Amino acid sequence: MRIVLLGAPGSGKGTQAALLVEQLNLPHISTGALLRDAIKRGTQLGMQAKSIIDKGELVPDDIVSGMIEERLGKQDVANGFILDGYPRNVAQAASLDAMLERLGQPVEEAIQIDIDPEQIIKRIAKRAKEEGRSDDTEETVRNRMRVYEEQTAPVVGYYEERGLLTRVLGDGLKEEIFERILSVLNQHSQPA
Ligand code: ADP
Repeated sequence: MRIVLLGAPGSGKGTQAALLVEQLNLPHISTGALLRDAIKRGTQLGMQAKSIIDKGELVPDDIVSGMIEERLGKQDVANGFILDGYPRNVAQAASLDAMLERLGQPVEEAIQIDIDPEQIIKRIAKRAKEEGRSDDTEETVRNRMRVYEEQTAPVVGYYEERGLLTRVLGDGLKEEIFERILSVLNQHSQPA
């Protein structure tokens, strides 16, 4: 199955992606993780990306789309994938469609994890303590939320127009949210 997971920073997207990967045995493709890895390895791309990420801005589309294109070229995506953190604006959504069209493997499900902003602030504060991510400072988080509203929220409409979107309530225990996602996937995989 080819799944795109959508949701604000701190919506639990990454957590749910990891659970789905385990359950469905599909590769997890996260641009955030790929970028953090490039930073850790000290590559030129990583160095370019770090200052942008630390400000809470989006890394340029050609960089992330290039990373995704390379990743989608690998063998293990033949049975599907879980995309997390990409696409993050409408231009990236269009690039993704073009890439997947070339592969003959269009997106099948887009799942939006809905959560209220109050909860997000709390969750990110907690994660900042646990993981020490340099982009989890209060000021950066505020900017990431603004960037999300302006650039990423429209991606939800993009998939809605194409009849691919389902919204899932993102509050409660991670296991409960996971059950909601699985039940959506199950329903959609039933023959009509
Ligand atoms: P979160 O969803 O919690 O914000 P991510 O790990 O998905 O965390 O992303 C962290 C940062 O990496 C983003 O704020 C952005 O700077 C950069 N990034 C990740 N994915 C993309 C993308 N698709 N396009 C541009 N920038 C990205």
